[in-house]
Amino acid sequence: MKNFAYSRPADLTAATEAASADGTRIIAGGTTMVDLLKIGVLNPEALVDISGITDLRGYDVSSDRMRFGALSMMSTVGDDPDVIAAFPALSESLWKAASPQLRNAATLGGNILQHTRCPYYRDTAYAQCNKRSPGSGCAALEGGETTLHAILGGSSSCVAKYPGDFAQVLVAFDAEVTTQGPGGTRTIAFAQLHRLPGDTPHIETVLEPGEIVTAIELPMIPAMTNSTYLKARDRESYAFASASAAVGVEMDGDTVRDVRIGLGGVASVPWRATAAEDSLKGKPLTEEAAREAGRIAFQDAEPLEGSAYKIKLGADVVAGALLQVKTRMGAE
Ligand code: SF4
Repeated sequence: MKNFAYSRPADLTAATEAASADGTRIIAGGTTMVDLLKIGVLNPEALVDISGITDLRGYDVSSDRMRFGALSMMSTVGDDPDVIAAFPALSESLWKAASPQLRNAATLGGNILQHTRCPYYRDTAYAQCNKRSPGSGCAALEGGETTLHAILGGSSSCVAKYPGDFAQVLVAFDAEVTTQGPGGTRTIAFAQLHRLPGDTPHIETVLEPGEIVTAIELPMIPAMTNSTYLKARDRESYAFASASAAVGVEMDGDTVRDVRIGLGGVASVPWRATAAEDSLKGKPLTEEAAREAGRIAFQDAEPLEGSAYKIKLGADVVAGALLQVKTRMGAE
């Protein structure tokens, strides 16, 4: 590991100033960052540790807008009975994301900004990786193994998938993040936070140098109560998603009034399946409608040979999540 400077500012103003310097990275829980430092994927000149900024801790789910400080722990939020009751999908996405040890160390802010698990990105023996080394090529697209890669949102430069779980819930339920940077504070729609890879896959978000995510907010809506997060993976105990779906439903009598569908494990960024949502609105939530929504969610997929299996798997996960919610609601 390369030597780096380390600082632990006590407030946001000092942290944004320190984090604005070239070659600087921000660290909080460190569950991803330390790995990437040790294997030489990231080699910063300096680390700014924001874990001591107490203003970023704490959360509130009691009003008409949920608010989570960026340093709220995954375990604390995921285990909270009020969160479980108000928004099962959010709790389940945190539970299914990582082991208890990791959930006890990882923060919500760090979780949404985690790096891809593309094996070529994480193995510096492969020189070709446009995300790690811009302009070097893509080992996955140049004859590599692609079973773990995206089938939605990829480009000719990079087909890495976004690896998280929590983010699928946030994108489906219109979350926003608040930030503070050298230019002041701003609010960003969660759906706009992550950038599609295009020809610059090394630029993963719209955050500016020194800009720190301070909180995540969600409007409380009825579909949160009837929600779930379904995750298909190679093994049940803490693997990354092959395909996942965050789903929430609000019924109006026998028909769907509102439905939210976020896709994970299949796309370059947290992905909202709006066409699939639209296919369900105003109709009964039957098994046939759920399976059709799953099909529509992947109608624009562009798989590679190794990732083609995700079209059927993803469609089945979407339908399964919708039917799981229907069962929980006790709907006919
Ligand atoms: Fe790198 Fe993206 Fe290609 Fe993976 S898919 S090797 S992260 S450029």
